[in-house]
This record gives sequence, structure tokens and C-alpha cells, in this order.
Amino acid sequence: MAKVKIICPKCDWEPRPSDLWSCSCGHAWHTFDTGGRCPSCNKQWDDTQCLGSSAGGCGKWSPHLEWYRNLDDWVKEEVEKVEVEIVEPVTVG
Ligand SMILES: [Zn+2]
Ligand SMILES: [Zn+2]
Repeated sequence: MAKVKIICPKCDWEPRPSDLWSCSCGHAWHTFDTGGRCPSCNKQWDDTQCLGSSAGGCGKWSPHLEWYRNLDDWVKEEVEKVEVEIVEPVTVG
């Protein structure tokens, strides 16, 4: 299957598993583990900041979904898988 890569859409910086993002509540976590949601206060971050110069990134904000490369292919494959798995006929009415 297509491999989904997580890369900054602006500078091609690739986060490492050890990189941490800080929430406004003060919690720090790896935001791509949770799809941009803070596990402490459940705030959903629609935009994700590229980590700054210390980590080699550009420091700019981008929509979280734009970080996922090959996501379209992955979604397509997942949808095709689901379609194959649904074998029960749906009766309407
Ligand atoms: Zn939080
Ligand atoms: Zn960047």
C-alpha cells in the first residue's frame, strides 16, 4: 500500500518521533500521534506548526491534513478495502 509520509508542506521538514508540540494548555506531545488533538485537554488543532530552527523546520503553520503526503492514495485504498468487506446487501424501505 502507499506509504503516508508526514512532511511540512512548506519546507519538506520531516518530524521525528521524538519531536514534541506544545498545546495552549501547557501539555507537550507528538501531534501526529493523535491527528492534531491534544490528549490532555482534547483541543483539536486544525493547523500544525513546523518546528523552528532548533529542529530544522521553517516554523510556519500549515493545515494539519496538508502534512500527510500520499494521503489521497491511502484513503482510496482504505475505501476500496471497505467496499470489498461490505458483503451484506442493504435493503431500503
Ligand atoms: Zn491541551
Ligand atoms: Zn516547515
